[in-house]
Amino acid sequence: MNYPLTLAQMLEHAHRIHGDKCVQTVLPNGEMHRYTYAALYERVKSLANAITELGIQRGDRVATYASNTYQHLELYYAIPCIGAVLHPLNIRLSAVQLAQIVHEAEDKLIFVDGAFSEQFGDLRNKIGCKRIVRFNLMPADTDTSYEQLLGEAEPTYTWDIQDENWAMGLCYTSGTQGEPRGVLYTHRSMFLHTLAVNQADVFGLTEADVVLPLVPMFHAMAWGLPYACMFAGADMVLPGPKPTCLADLIAENDITVAAGVPTVWAKAYPDLQRRRQDISSLRRVIVGGEAMPSTLIEAYEKELGVEVCHAWGMTEMSPTGTCSKLRGTHQNLSDAKKWDIKAKQGRPVPGVELRLAAEASTSFTELPWDGETVGEVQVRSPWTASRYYKSEPTTEHFTADGWLRTGDLATIDAEGYMQIVDRAKALIRSGGESISSIALETALLKHPRVLEAAVIGVPDEKWGERPLAVVVLTPVGAECNTRNGFSLFPDQIPNRTEEALRGQLAAEFPKFWIPDRFVFVDEIPKTSVGKSDKRAILGMFVSTGNSDLP
Ligand code: AMP
Repeated sequence: MNYPLTLAQMLEHAHRIHGDKCVQTVLPNGEMHRYTYAALYERVKSLANAITELGIQRGDRVATYASNTYQHLELYYAIPCIGAVLHPLNIRLSAVQLAQIVHEAEDKLIFVDGAFSEQFGDLRNKIGCKRIVRFNLMPADTDTSYEQLLGEAEPTYTWDIQDENWAMGLCYTSGTQGEPRGVLYTHRSMFLHTLAVNQADVFGLTEADVVLPLVPMFHAMAWGLPYACMFAGADMVLPGPKPTCLADLIAENDITVAAGVPTVWAKAYPDLQRRRQDISSLRRVIVGGEAMPSTLIEAYEKELGVEVCHAWGMTEMSPTGTCSKLRGTHQNLSDAKKWDIKAKQGRPVPGVELRLAAEASTSFTELPWDGETVGEVQVRSPWTASRYYKSEPTTEHFTADGWLRTGDLATIDAEGYMQIVDRAKALIRSGGESISSIALETALLKHPRVLEAAVIGVPDEKWGERPLAVVVLTPVGAECNTRNGFSLFPDQIPNRTEEALRGQLAAEFPKFWIPDRFVFVDEIPKTSVGKSDKRAILGMFVSTGNSDLP
């Protein structure tokens, strides 16, 4: 049977089989909005009509500027199910970056959460007259009201996705040069990704689960959870636009599975540990976006009795690629060994093929899976991109035989467990988001006082990595003194310059991109080909005890 793999089929299944299951959202005023899948289904049909009435046609991009809410979930279904393309905007990016993204995507319509009205204002000024619809409207808002649109729309809609290869979603990722890169998903790719992550050895969601996706719906499709939960029939609790107490959310809603980046779990741990009894419903946390340290895995598994499901992926992979679960043969290992295995990024999800290639080689040489040899991870799967949006595949990102070059450097052992050891791409990962070191360097070099600049990611307990800028100033009037092998300018000069450089970066990039520290040096170490030697620079800060430099 040639059965179409579309989100409309998934929505119909969720409605027919799991209509009584619940979606709850923490509203901006702290109250809880609660309704069933059946009620969501009815609203999605009205929304589908409303979006069509606004002139949106098959293939048009419709953006969202929102967090994890029931309205965003409705849009996750309504937009693709009329044949248009859901384009969640990453609200953490700066207005300058987002304007570039909206321009490239040619978004026709933007749905905005009123809770972000103020920060959206900057973007709005840059993108000119786009049609805006808002939910969670504030009294002063003059845009079209989401609820009014829904109220006026026809309640019936017949889905008509004629081809499972139609595009359903578009997500942008930070390119290594800082330029945004779009990744387009199809109905088929998202359907298959949903089936894949719902397997027992991956996220393993069931109808009995109550799932709390902390991973934002504006980043990498919230790891596919909005679809995975509803296909499995799990209840969902959406944390809404305002920060809330995680332990309270878990305790009050009997959450069984929660998903978020390691930064979230590290920050929440002391409170969760204090309230162990209250959070006893929690059986599993899904962690990804950056490496989850084995000590934190141990803390969750041993102290809280919560299983850690450590996954790796990329926006380009919908995003899930591997998952670190123990094998049956590992059950007799010591706890310490088990946590070390779980701290690896894990084995490929069925449907995903991995291979290790010699780093930076132009011709492909497959490296052995011996747990020691380091190579670049290359991937292919039915839910991995074969090119970036509006561009032809280049050898920088795709191999001649069509595999995705991830830019992650790893080992793979004989059992198929991948362990990331480094990144070949010039991206710093902070709190699960990418920061382009090259984009920051380019911006720094625009300042007349900067002669050379290198930005590196230094390990950070809270965020995983944080950017640090190493700068050589133009020598005008600069006197130097030397400390720890670095020549430092007298305090007042770098202070003033640092302020100016921070100001320059803040005009272009979001706050979390601004380096925590600026270090002014006489010379930046170089590789044999004259590029900044990032590993040598990192070594100076990490292993030689220079981390207390200014
Ligand atoms: P993004 O497309 O923003 O989701 O970023 C994807 C990148 O995040 C990957 O290429 C990795 O460099 C990094 N990443 C994702 N998951 C993990 C993980 N579990 N451990 C280490 N790095 C990760």
